Amino acid sequence: MTSTIEHSAGTVVILGTGGTIAGASSVAGDNVGYTAAQRSVADLLAAVPALAGAPLEAEQVAQLDSKDMDAATWQALARAVARHLARPAVQGIVVTHGTDTLEETAWLLQQVLAPAKPVVLVAAMRPATALAADGPQNLLDAVAVARTPGARGVVAVLAGQVHAADRVRKVHTYRTDAFSSGDAGPLGVVEEGVLRRFADWPAGVALGLDVLDTDPTQWPWVEIVTSHAGARGDAVRALLAAGVQGLVVAGTGNGSVH
Ligand code: ASP
Repeated sequence: MTSTIEHSAGTVVILGTGGTIAGASSVAGDNVGYTAAQRSVADLLAAVPALAGAPLEAEQVAQLDSKDMDAATWQALARAVARHLARPAVQGIVVTHGTDTLEETAWLLQQVLAPAKPVVLVAAMRPATALAADGPQNLLDAVAVARTPGARGVVAVLAGQVHAADRVRKVHTYRTDAFSSGDAGPLGVVEEGVLRRFADWPAGVALGLDVLDTDPTQWPWVEIVTSHAGARGDAVRALLAAGVQGLVVAGTGNGSVH
């Protein structure tokens, strides 16, 4: 186990994409009945006084509920991340994101970029208007991770925990500690702005931005079908008749198919 007590003074770029962390409700204090992606990334930063004066830059890449994430937004985000990572003055990137597809975005960025600097996805389970919003603390923690010397790879930070891109998954629908790394446990925890790390940073060989460098409307059409008791082949036949180019089967048990 290692703990890190210093922070680098390099610039951290905050890329906004929307999500509940940027959500708002007309009913003060409502944790569930809200609309995601209402606040700009600049507004989110302004809600964290402890970040005032820190070397930060903000850029709004998208403004959506992450259930509506799509290939074009992923392409734009990956390009923005790569562009900023290439700047010597940039220490790391923080991406504000919705929780619904955070794990997909984390895995995509890790596979495509395998960054040598930290790319920290941050989200919240409660909107910015909640009585006890979790977004501001999560954002503060995410910046602390991005400023940690030696940090690299794509990770997610929520509820004081740091999860590696190849482990992170959403496991609860409304609790603020909704994310898990499964049996592996989190990569680390953030305690009072200090990263206490239990495992190595995500690593691997980058596929490269080229794999995303085509018109997203021309990407192959791949669907996910689930296997379950009573599942009928008609669903697969209907997809094939409609021209689907690939199928991923989410099986039961140890990948069994009905
Ligand atoms: N639907 C929201 C989103 O993924 C949920 C959240 O952010 O917690 O954008």
